[in-house]
Amino acid sequence: MALRIIIGLALTAVAFALAGRRVWWLYRLARSGQPAPERFEMVRKNPGGDVKSQATEVFGQRKLLKWSVPGVAHALTFWGFIVLILTIIEAYGDLFSRRFAIPGIGHWAAIGFIEDLFAVAVLAGIAAFGIIRLRANPKREGRDSRFAGSHTGAAWLVLFMIFLVVATLLLYRGAQINTGVFPYAHGAFASQIVGHWLAPLGVPANHGLETGGILAQLAVILGFLVLVVYSKHLHIGIAPLNVLFARRSDAGRAGAPGGLGALQPMRSGGKVLDFEEADPDTDVFGRGKIEDFTWKGLLDMATCTECGRCQSQCPAWATDKPLSPKMLILNLRDHAFAKAPYILAASDEEREKLPESVQAEAARPLVGDAEANGVIDPDVLWSCTNCGACVEECPVDIEHIDHITDMRRHQVLIESAFPTEASSMLKNLENKGNPWGMSENKRTEWITELDFEVPVVDGVIGDDVEYLFWVGCAGALEDRARKTTKAIAQLLHTAGVKFAVLGPAESCTGDPARRMGNEFVYSMLAQQNIETLNEAKARKIVASCPHCFNTIANEYPQLGGNYEVIHHTQLLAQLVADGKLKPVNRVEEKVTYHDPCFLGRHNRIFSAPREIMEQVPGVQSQEMHRCKERGFCCGAGGARMWMEERIGKRINTERIDEALGTDPDTISTGCPYCMVMLGDAVNAKKSSGEAKESLEVVDVAQLLVRSVQPPAENKQPASEEQ
Ligand code: SF4
Ligand code: SF4
Repeated sequence: MALRIIIGLALTAVAFALAGRRVWWLYRLARSGQPAPERFEMVRKNPGGDVKSQATEVFGQRKLLKWSVPGVAHALTFWGFIVLILTIIEAYGDLFSRRFAIPGIGHWAAIGFIEDLFAVAVLAGIAAFGIIRLRANPKREGRDSRFAGSHTGAAWLVLFMIFLVVATLLLYRGAQINTGVFPYAHGAFASQIVGHWLAPLGVPANHGLETGGILAQLAVILGFLVLVVYSKHLHIGIAPLNVLFARRSDAGRAGAPGGLGALQPMRSGGKVLDFEEADPDTDVFGRGKIEDFTWKGLLDMATCTECGRCQSQCPAWATDKPLSPKMLILNLRDHAFAKAPYILAASDEEREKLPESVQAEAARPLVGDAEANGVIDPDVLWSCTNCGACVEECPVDIEHIDHITDMRRHQVLIESAFPTEASSMLKNLENKGNPWGMSENKRTEWITELDFEVPVVDGVIGDDVEYLFWVGCAGALEDRARKTTKAIAQLLHTAGVKFAVLGPAESCTGDPARRMGNEFVYSMLAQQNIETLNEAKARKIVASCPHCFNTIANEYPQLGGNYEVIHHTQLLAQLVADGKLKPVNRVEEKVTYHDPCFLGRHNRIFSAPREIMEQVPGVQSQEMHRCKERGFCCGAGGARMWMEERIGKRINTERIDEALGTDPDTISTGCPYCMVMLGDAVNAKKSSGEAKESLEVVDVAQLLVRSVQPPAENKQPASEEQ
């Protein structure tokens, strides 16, 4: 007895010393990051939301369960380990007393049953994981495997360790049954089966198996503890923290709850950067080195489970570009860990004494091509469309887009290193307030093509005006998007909704500049627009572009611009529901709807456009495989609209290939960027004979206007339609 106590406690002391050393090291590394006081403020302001997130994301395994088989396997393992905490207490108690039982519950048959049930559930879970890993073997599946790039050897080791935890548990419990000290007379069915197998060995042998099994159980659990803190399974301990501090409680969020929220402003030392006072020598401009990340950024990196769910949904990865959101996080994490001795060193002298490998790691640029030995390749950084699929999927709430944007900010503002073709867009935004550099007077040209008046705000918006229609640069200046603008105006006019536009006073919201990393140009444009909107006393705004919608609704509040913003599909759906718009003309077409990322995933507006289509008689809607939360990007977001797509398959082509699988007559959407990207891909498909000549890409407002307007004798060619 005394020997097993000594061995058990010695094992515990060694394991806790090893694990504690690592946890202290991880804590110091996280503390070396930039402060992020806003994260504590979010938790303080919304404790209810955080309790809910722990209940749904951590204990409810909400995101994991969206992937049915692996989700159930993970949930079984997770819940199993929660229940098996009881058995760990029992194993320690058994060290000291062979008749140990947890006070109050130790002899309750139901507990014995539940413990065994979850032990078996964990075995079922790891068996499922094993099969999943064999089937999605990266050696066979290549890039298509979500485990491509993950540390698969470590994952197999952990599965084996989990198996050993359950095997040693059942071994000593089975032996206890035969030595007569097992606390649960009934209910522990799996232990009884094992006990039955061990019974022929006799009582003395079972005494040995009991002691050996308990020590083996403790050794495996303690070994597992050490493995967890030294491996990717760190997430077992820190995922709840990462979920707690995720920025779900953003104020000013539009759309339904659960959207991705606003991009974070640039912060240095925990404070929002003021460009008028900021000093590039002392302030942190974006992320130019790993130490520039906040502790939350470092926590994100350490929390990644390498599950590859983000990678499997990333449009850049799916079209053979070098960006994988998983690998981006893993490369940052590996660099942070490898550079840690340098970061944590107390002095320059200490740094000079570090091994060459650490010094070499410390010298690597954060962003740089293979020749520069950069941690993140520029092609990785600039491939992101900000579609949000990675953030949506990540079960531990890692914020990939924030990190990508922060690295872009440093590249643009400090290094002036970004795809050259985007520079004219930035110049045009600065000089003309729109990405094409067109004259501001052109913003009202579309109005002259209507047969009714659209008031242009001059001073303060009139009391009789219900909505300010935010037309957007594309809506005012791009030919295809102008058709949507005219359709929306026509529908509002028909429904008797009083609206006005800002006309030449409207400027780009700054979205492309911000997503590109040029926070300076974004702030300039945003402040100018907020001033204009405030002077006009704007309250209710209807926006046709999801990027404008997202920026005004979610991001302008960061600069003091607070408005009630609605997307045109929401307003039109409401007008149809209220009977103010009556779709009567039949539109006999098979239509497939493409979810714009900044409307759908970013703001959770999935149903309004579909409700409109349902109300148009004759329309046969058919969903693409990747839709709603799993919608596939058109390739334009994250300022990608203004950059060349030189690597891999074009994202818009990939999307149109999927759309063509539904054999549509029309592809509908709710975003001018998507219209342009999908329209270009459709035109290419028509040229190659892969799509029928009559195939169109339209906004749902254009579909609705056809049904609400008197029927035309013949369907007009797309170029002449509104
Ligand atoms: S936002 Fe979209 S494109 Fe960017 S990394 Fe995530 S999934 Fe990939
Ligand atoms: S970032 Fe999230 S989704 Fe991607 S591999 Fe890591 S844990 Fe999985």
